[in-house]
Amino acid sequence: MKTVTSKLFTWSMDWILDWILPRCCLGCGDEGDFLCEVCLDARIIRKKFQVCPGCRKLNVAGRVCDKCRDDWFIDGLLVCCLNNKFLRDLVHEYKYDDMYGLSGIMSSVGVDMVLREKLRFDGVVYVPLYKSKKYWRGYNQSELMAKGIADGLGVVKINGLERTRYTKSQVGLEKLERILNVKNSFVGCKKGKINNQKVLLVDDVLTTGATLNECASELKKEGADEVWGLVLARGI
Ligand SMILES: [Zn+2]
Ligand SMILES: [Zn+2]
Repeated sequence: MKTVTSKLFTWSMDWILDWILPRCCLGCGDEGDFLCEVCLDARIIRKKFQVCPGCRKLNVAGRVCDKCRDDWFIDGLLVCCLNNKFLRDLVHEYKYDDMYGLSGIMSSVGVDMVLREKLRFDGVVYVPLYKSKKYWRGYNQSELMAKGIADGLGVVKINGLERTRYTKSQVGLEKLERILNVKNSFVGCKKGKINNQKVLLVDDVLTTGATLNECASELKKEGADEVWGLVLARGI
């Protein structure tokens, strides 16, 4: 009940805010949506090719190549866009400045990429935030994206993982520090319900891949057959 009430409150506030302060494109300032179609096409540059997340050699749909296989729990990685300043600013607004209304645009970018690479999934999971972090931020940007992508692909969004402890931000940490920072910080919570499934694991951005790897490892312990990562960009 509390959730329904708070959602109704959020929708009402969004409606009132849209009425008082109409949405404007973050690219050109035109009134309408957070990003107009012209800026979406011109400033969010979609990746034309996908590469193995380990050695970064071209590989179909971002599949992990045989040489890198032992270092990765994910089976492949879809990186949707080039990392440019416009996208970095947009992701920052989306994550930290209450711009959760951008989730529709972020999700559509993800759906386009999955369809273009002709991949099929049984469900979409996401990298969870620790409870207190989600409470203070008010939303999990990766979960909102996962919901939009699942809806766009016509599959279910699965709450497949829980974060078991608070972890420092990965920003500014060395590669080994990042691995240790997220080690054993997730646990699968579907109790076998994703057995033999091929799932898409969504996060906003990727740096070393330590977080996605840790999550994918837990999802495989839960019985997932294949886990593919999807991020908006790499190296932010
Ligand atoms: Zn625009
Ligand atoms: Zn490789």
